[in-house]
Amino acid sequence: MSATEPQTNTLEAKSPFELRVNQGVNVSDSAIKKALESGDIGFLHSFTTGSTVDGPGVRVVAWTSGCQFRCLYCHNPDTWYLSNGLPVPLERAIDELKKYRHGLKAMFGGFTLSGGEPLMQDRFAVRLFTAAKQLGIHTALDTNGFLGARLSDDELEQIDLVLLDIKAWDPERHRQLVGKEIGPVLDFARRLSARKRPIWQRFVLVPDLTDDAADIAELAKFSASLGTVKRVDVLPFHQMGRFKWKKLGLEYELDDVQPPTNELVQRVCEQFRAEGLKAY
Ligand code: SF4
Repeated sequence: MSATEPQTNTLEAKSPFELRVNQGVNVSDSAIKKALESGDIGFLHSFTTGSTVDGPGVRVVAWTSGCQFRCLYCHNPDTWYLSNGLPVPLERAIDELKKYRHGLKAMFGGFTLSGGEPLMQDRFAVRLFTAAKQLGIHTALDTNGFLGARLSDDELEQIDLVLLDIKAWDPERHRQLVGKEIGPVLDFARRLSARKRPIWQRFVLVPDLTDDAADIAELAKFSASLGTVKRVDVLPFHQMGRFKWKKLGLEYELDDVQPPTNELVQRVCEQFRAEGLKAY
C-alpha cells in the first residue's frame, strides 16, 4: 500500500488508552520520508473529542505517533513508533477539525496536538496548526520540548499555547527517566519565554522517581523565571498504561509503584506555588 491510499481504520478513538499498533506498518520508508519532509501526511494514533484536560475549554485532540523519549512511566508506549500510527492525509485531518470548529468555539475550546511527540512530525504539525488558525480554532501543542528548535519563530506564532512537559530538573535524573538530555527542553522553554508564548507546564509526579523535593524546588524556580508559565499541572502517576507495556512485550519497571498520595500532590503543588505559580 502507498501512504496515500484511502484508509479504512477509524481515526476516532474513545480515548488514547486504546492500544493501537501497526496502523502504518506497510507504508514504505520512502513514503514516510516524503511525508515527514512535506507534512502532506501525518501518522496518528487517533483523534479524540471532548477532552477537558488538554488545554482550555473542550478540546479535540489528535494523538501523533513517534516519540524519541522512553519515559519509564509512559502510559502510551504504542505511540513510540511512527509505524503504529494511521497515515492520515493532511486534508483529512483538517476536515476533522472543520466538523468541530463551531462547537469548539461555543465551548471556549480548541485543538490540541499531542502524542507521542508531535514535533517528530513537525511539518505536519505546523501545517495542521496553520489550518486550524485559519479556521479560527485555538491551537495547543502538547510536547516534551526536545525538538522545539525545529519550529521557526513565525511557526511558533501559529501555536496559541504550549503544554510543555518538563520531566525532571536534575540532568542525570532526566536522562535516566526518559533516555535523553534535558538541555534542548530547557532551551525551548527559554525561547518560548523570550517570544512571550504562553506555557502550561506539565509535571508527572511519580513516587520515589520524580518527587525529590530539592529537584522540584529548582524546577519551580526555573519555571517561575520564565515569566510565561500560566499554570502548572501536577499530573499524578497512574497505572492505566501498564497493560500496553505488557501487550507490547516491553519491560515495565514501575509495576509496584502506587499513585502519589494527596499529601504528596499537595506538597508538590505548594512547591510551585511558593515560586508564585498557579499549580493544580
Ligand atoms: S514523552 Fe510522552 S509519549 Fe514520549 S515516552 Fe514520554 S510520556 Fe511517552
